[in-house]
Amino acid sequence: MTLPLPGTGEPSLPEAPASGDMPPEEFRRRGHEVVDWMAGYLAEVGGLPVLPQATPGEVMARLPPSAPEVGEGFDEILRDFRATILPAVTHWNHPAFFAYFATTGSGPGILGEMLAAALNVNAMVWRSSPAATELEQLATAWVRQLVGLPEAFQGVINDTASSSTLYALAAAREALLPEAVEEGLGVAPRGRVYASSEAHSSVHKAVITLGLGRGGLRKVEADGAFRMDPGALARAMAEDVARGVRPLAVVATVGTTSTTSVDPVAEVAEVAAGHGAWLHVDAAYAGPAAALSELAHHFQGWERADSVVLNPHKWLFTPVDCSILYCRRPERLAMAFSLTPEYLRTREREEGGATDLMDYGVSLGRRFRALKLWFVLRWFGAEGIRARLREHLRLAALLAGWIEDEPGWELVAPVPFSTVVFRRVEEGLSPEEEGRLNLALLERVNRSGEAFLSHTALGGRVAIRLAIGNLRTGEAHVARAWELLRAAAAEREVAASLA
Ligand SMILES: *Cc1c(COP(=O)(O)O)cnc(C)c1O
Repeated sequence: MTLPLPGTGEPSLPEAPASGDMPPEEFRRRGHEVVDWMAGYLAEVGGLPVLPQATPGEVMARLPPSAPEVGEGFDEILRDFRATILPAVTHWNHPAFFAYFATTGSGPGILGEMLAAALNVNAMVWRSSPAATELEQLATAWVRQLVGLPEAFQGVINDTASSSTLYALAAAREALLPEAVEEGLGVAPRGRVYASSEAHSSVHKAVITLGLGRGGLRKVEADGAFRMDPGALARAMAEDVARGVRPLAVVATVGTTSTTSVDPVAEVAEVAAGHGAWLHVDAAYAGPAAALSELAHHFQGWERADSVVLNPHKWLFTPVDCSILYCRRPERLAMAFSLTPEYLRTREREEGGATDLMDYGVSLGRRFRALKLWFVLRWFGAEGIRARLREHLRLAALLAGWIEDEPGWELVAPVPFSTVVFRRVEEGLSPEEEGRLNLALLERVNRSGEAFLSHTALGGRVAIRLAIGNLRTGEAHVARAWELLRAAAAEREVAASLA
């Protein structure tokens, strides 16, 4: 196929013969071969061990320590992919991947990612890729409507929630510590950020990165259901203000990483507003669930936030990476980050009217992440997305019921979304013994290769987490994981009675 040059009707100039790139005919053939492999992989991933039996250093040891001097054939490259890389992959696409937060690289998302790689655009400024810039604005607006956030929120896509939260807190520092804007923190009053003891570690990392020090984050007590205590927040902020510390931001979490607990955002917003502090809502995992009317109560008050982060690469079937930062005051983000060196000046920038996404974060270069998100939203539709989220909620509720009905096991936190946190309890065990028992059961199940779960610690006691978020997960997968756990516990009881 020879594409005519637009408007001229002339065939395009032939490519330089010595580019060294894969010739178009081979690219076509290899592309088909690789996509064929992907289709088979996605269809059969459930039959692979979800967690590989690799040991640290094994992959490195099996591959040459230096790049080849002379280029190699694609057959050899693919052979090593199959023989060495694949056996050491943890299969996040596996229907029994229940660790951390389960995700899915859906078909439309993967194809969108492939096309983005082919286009290879860098959406630094509007001119460097108008479509990537505008589709990012459009796709984030679609998600905003899906989850019911007000129109005032403008979205940008970042790699991860960690980056999104860093940028949100940078905007807060810009807005609330103007003394630091020109000369840095040296002469500025001490600023502080507040989050619950259950907040994600990325909040603390962001505070450290912004130069506020490790003590720049004050961890606020959580209640028995792992939710931030707004009374404790109010006391902490008042105490700091009395000491001359300036409250910069409060981070409320909807769906914490350990237990998916939900901070009372409306009350937290009230306390934050009382001090003029920035409110950032971390809904990295649970955010998409705001699309469900029956869960609206968990998100009450998030519309009052200055910024919200949610990750389509977690529970919205979009391949990693894709995190949306919504900001009600995007000009604050731009003030924190916008600089224009001569080489990035464009006519559209001078004249206004075009958005340059480089202004809203640290990275200049930006991938065309909106393409895969747009594909996913169009393929599933809002109705399709809601149906899958509801199925995950159903499976989590089912498992929670089984655990409640089973002697020797307990739920350790409410289940507001699709993640169940529980533990094995046996009489007469110290917390340390109980912790070792639960980790041993987990290890036993994970080693089976049939399922992969992770753990957390709550009040010094170990708990097992089972997170449902993969499109391929069915009731049978959840039931099997539960059976494996019970079998592991029974086996240990037998072993203990014989010892
Ligand atoms: C997963 C998670 C994060 C971190 O997300 P990344 O995109 O990996 O940086 C932050 N906060 C919460 C609540 C999360 O669940």
